Amino acid sequence: MQRWNGWGDNSIIYPLPARAAGFLEEFVGPGTRPADASLASVLSAVPPGRLPYHALVSLDAEDRLRHARGQSLPDWIALRSGRIATFPDGVAYPLSNQDVRELMDFAGQVGARIIPYGGGTSVVGHINPQMDQPTLTIDLSRLNRLLQYDSTSQLATFGAGVAGPDLEALLRAQGVTLGHFPQSFEYSTLGGWIATRSSGQQSLGYGRIEALFAGGVVESPAGTMTLPPFPASAAGPDLRELFLGSEGRMGILTEATVRTTPLAEREEFHAIFLPDWERAVAAARAVIQARLPLSMLRLSTPVETETMLALAGHERLIAALERLLSVRRIGKEKCMLLMGFTGNSNVVKISRQQAVAISGRFGGVHIGRRFGDQWHKGRFRTPYLRNTLWQRGYAVDTLETATAWTAVPDMVTGIENALHAALEETGERVHVFTHLSHLYPTGSSIYVTYLFRLSPDPDENLERWRCLKAAASEAIVVRGGTISHQHGVGKDHAPYLAAEKGALGMRTIRELYHQFDPAGILNPGTLLPAEGHRASEAG
Ligand SMILES: Cc1cc2nc3c(=O)[nH]c(=O)nc-3n(C[C@H](O)[C@H](O)[C@H](O)COP(=O)(O)OP(=O)(O)OC[C@H]3O[C@@H](n4cnc5c(N)ncnc54)[C@H](O)[C@@H]3O)c2cc1C
Repeated sequence: MQRWNGWGDNSIIYPLPARAAGFLEEFVGPGTRPADASLASVLSAVPPGRLPYHALVSLDAEDRLRHARGQSLPDWIALRSGRIATFPDGVAYPLSNQDVRELMDFAGQVGARIIPYGGGTSVVGHINPQMDQPTLTIDLSRLNRLLQYDSTSQLATFGAGVAGPDLEALLRAQGVTLGHFPQSFEYSTLGGWIATRSSGQQSLGYGRIEALFAGGVVESPAGTMTLPPFPASAAGPDLRELFLGSEGRMGILTEATVRTTPLAEREEFHAIFLPDWERAVAAARAVIQARLPLSMLRLSTPVETETMLALAGHERLIAALERLLSVRRIGKEKCMLLMGFTGNSNVVKISRQQAVAISGRFGGVHIGRRFGDQWHKGRFRTPYLRNTLWQRGYAVDTLETATAWTAVPDMVTGIENALHAALEETGERVHVFTHLSHLYPTGSSIYVTYLFRLSPDPDENLERWRCLKAAASEAIVVRGGTISHQHGVGKDHAPYLAAEKGALGMRTIRELYHQFDPAGILNPGTLLPAEGHRASEAG
């Protein structure tokens, strides 16, 4: 069963290797596990729902608790401590477009707000209800069927609530894949990916979700909009672009048609170690700018490389690796570059040879498939480590941005310095590590993980997170980076959106969504700051 106050299935535990525990203590000090509220005590505190009876709406306390928060660190602090300020007043699980329309009419009639809900894996507060008005959460998980597969055109149409593993299993039976693998794959849904402009770990090869989303059906309070799956069109603006990244503000995507790819004949993940960060960035940029058909590139800073090796355990293997690298004069500043090759055997072989040769020009040492394959095998298990770390008294959070290559080094340093300094006054240390997670010929996304000790006091933990998040977000905005490359805006990033969209851009987005949702009942507070908090949009 899925954990109600953490990540993933209850039966899966990610043990922390002894070396990793010592490593974390050295960086931030020993952790102390805070007391968790029990499920029973939290359920007994769920207030009565404020919605009248409707046959499609559950008022059950556990349903409402399980849809109250997502997976951000503030969400975890609320769930673990039992201090959850807001709950949806009801949860509905529609089985058809007709059900969705009926629920929208019902919400309109009773003055309720609607939160479209996919897998609830948001890490920026997308699906958290606000206090002021009754809220109906519409969970789309039962709209999960493969409705049509057009093998000639390689187009698949799904109910938009289908989760990653079901979607891939249904496609694999047809000999194809979507190739969209965010780390939240186990629970996140097709509709959620599209509504947040998600990026999968192999988006370099398969494309981000905007390249995979071909069309669909959107139900909004103002009516139904059908988006035909043209391969391309010059007929004015592309209405799919309006829906991508709309975060539940514009309507509910009930059906989505996606572009699939035949299953690859071969797939390999390789690791290359580079002597230092400067040469590593130059090598990664040279590989991506050679426009080779890779499916993944991921470059870790020296601190992240050291952290990943410590967390992996396998002490003898890592000692052997370090001996091998030292012979090639690669020491403590080493950076790990993971590369994915997916396609037919010839494409895999030639692109691997070329990518290895390019990195070699920057002092890169190719060490084969072992570390790459291990990363691939464990890539959806890593989020389970958050549960283990929490139990040992450590909080972990991530944030991300993207910027042009010229700005990448300063952006990495700026964010890391901001995070290191943010808790100085409290005397707490922060362990910060970074990788370039999605690379483009013109620039890169930057993905930062930060870890700090939990206090027994949830308010203190929330305050620590606020200081860290604000410091990093300001460091991003000041340097002209986007406030999100893949996690989206939600509520946590909403105050920073105007910095990149500008006043006219913000007004355009607001007016556009007003066409679809004139009464403003869809997911208020998400993406666009709530009315009354719009100072940043003036001008
Ligand atoms: C451990 C972990 C790893 C992650 N890794 C990645 C990653 O690698 N790449 C990445 O891009 N993100 C990642 N995320 C973030 C998150 O998984 C993505 O934002 C994902 O796209 C959300 O999908 P979901 O189905 O869970 O949507 P939810 O969290 O349920 O909703 C997100 C937003 O989409 C809206 N929405 C959902 N479904 C619909 C619909 N059918 N119609 C209209 N609006 C809808 C909601 O209203 C909400 O605003 C990660 C999160 C976690 C917890």
